[in-house]
Amino acid sequence: MINLLNLFFPKVCEACSRYLSDNEQVICSVCRHDLPVTNIHYTKSDAVKRVLFGRVKLEEATSLFYFSKGGLVQKLLHNLKYRGHEHIGQCLGEWLGEELKDSMSFQDIDVVVPVPLHPKKLRIRGYNQVDRFGRAIASALEIPFQRELLKKRFATKTQVFKNRIGRYDDSKTKFYITHTNEFSNHHILIVDDIITTGSTIENCSQVLQDIPGIKLSLATMAIAE
Ligand SMILES: [Zn+2]
Repeated sequence: MINLLNLFFPKVCEACSRYLSDNEQVICSVCRHDLPVTNIHYTKSDAVKRVLFGRVKLEEATSLFYFSKGGLVQKLLHNLKYRGHEHIGQCLGEWLGEELKDSMSFQDIDVVVPVPLHPKKLRIRGYNQVDRFGRAIASALEIPFQRELLKKRFATKTQVFKNRIGRYDDSKTKFYITHTNEFSNHHILIVDDIITTGSTIENCSQVLQDIPGIKLSLATMAIAE
């Protein structure tokens, strides 16, 4: 049967822009098959941990996809971040959440915590692109999603310094934590969209590690190849 709504406003795949059939949601079945999944949580590869080696101690670390320039994953993340298509985060969170639920290594996580967006960016974008992703993972693992623990603040003038190459570097003062006492001895799963140099995760971890007895793991939508 023809879906009349689709006839007037045809839905397209968020990765390849082909029209979706009535039984396809967000990403078409061809892309679901072709997307470069890492399977790190199954193979126990240290590809994500290696990015942060010597900087952050992570119990477990995984990414759903490999990111490459001009690829399907770049298109997905672009639509998620810059075109308001927040449901992509939900879709990827459900995808990874189901896999983590089945993997042996992510069973003792207590809480999912998203990397926060700068308040100014949040105001412009209207949503944090990793919230729905994290919420879907938390729901698959049947644990809480907590966006109040880790926060990002406005950098004040005194906190921002020019670094050697003349760029403003406020990385050391960006993140802070609240409700610290409630999270002692917790195993936190940090979630983010993409891991490249790992500096964001390093900065987040530095403040989270102030919580007594904390353990940290990481899950991202993608890892840069
Ligand atoms: Zn597609």
